[in-house]
Amino acid sequence: MKFLADSMLGKLARFLRIFGFDTIYANDLIDYFKMDPVPDEKLIEYANKDDRIIITKDYPLYKNYKEKSVYLRGKGIYNYLHQLNKTFGLNFKFNITQARCSICNSYLNKVPSKNSIKDLVLKDTYNNYNEFYQCSNLQCKKVYWQGSHIEDIEDRLDKALEFD
Ligand SMILES: [Zn+2]
Repeated sequence: MKFLADSMLGKLARFLRIFGFDTIYANDLIDYFKMDPVPDEKLIEYANKDDRIIITKDYPLYKNYKEKSVYLRGKGIYNYLHQLNKTFGLNFKFNITQARCSICNSYLNKVPSKNSIKDLVLKDTYNNYNEFYQCSNLQCKKVYWQGSHIEDIEDRLDKALEFD
């Protein structure tokens, strides 16, 4: 299941990528289409061609692509993830080997020797963790590790998913 997150859902796009869901963010298509903002019909064209479900808070866009889009209600990232869990049964368990780069949606590769990323992370992080992953996109190369912020996200998600 692949997604296209509408322009007001940048944070949600980053969360979905971290949890391993292939997610294009509408604003990342500004260069592709050379249009800012990217018009609804272009988003639909892209989603259709690339077999992506559109996630939006824009009701007219949802109505124009109803069969393959989801309309999110209310606000707040955990509320949105809850709705996606309800709608598609998405499971938000962090697994760094399945995660995608939150910035660019590329796959991560395990760093063979942590020495190679020494200058890219804080000293404490370098000393406290042994396993690192790095974005496979050579223009990005963001470094990831199984850190406490991910555990915090999972705790908050577990709580959010309890409210039915
Ligand atoms: Zn990246």
